[in-house]
Amino acid sequence: MDNCIFCKIARREIPSNKIYEDEEILAFNDINPAAPIHFLLIPKLHIDSLSATEDNHQDLLGKMLLLAPKLAKEQGCEDGFRTIINTGRVGGQEIFHLHFHIIGGRERLPVMIHHG
Ligand code: 5GP
Ligand code: ZN
Repeated sequence: MDNCIFCKIARREIPSNKIYEDEEILAFNDINPAAPIHFLLIPKLHIDSLSATEDNHQDLLGKMLLLAPKLAKEQGCEDGFRTIINTGRVGGQEIFHLHFHIIGGRERLPVMIHHG
């Protein structure tokens, strides 16, 4: 994906504050953090969104989910964190390359979903 900003980050054409990298996955700090700890976990493979995932992405998605708590702890999320995957227009997705937000810090995060 030539013009995808996260593909460019994965190809190192755009700099990022990288916190983890392996053959398939990259994690880097969000440029506009919503909390003291806010990083993004992406597959290097371009996938538009969670809606565009297919059965053959199962291993990759599993690896990303298993990595999330490990990196969160390494980054200083001692007592929990929030994982957000915005999907599509309704989900408020802005960058159409699948990414998991990992958000945390010392204080409890605001309640995001109000019931009733
Ligand atoms: P979305 O709304 O698509 O779930 O979130 C996109 C996220 O990417 C936002 O939190 C935004 O701050 C972050 N972001 C956008 N452009 C860049 C960039 O060039 N570098 C980094 N590190 N983060 C970015
Ligand atoms: Zn991409």
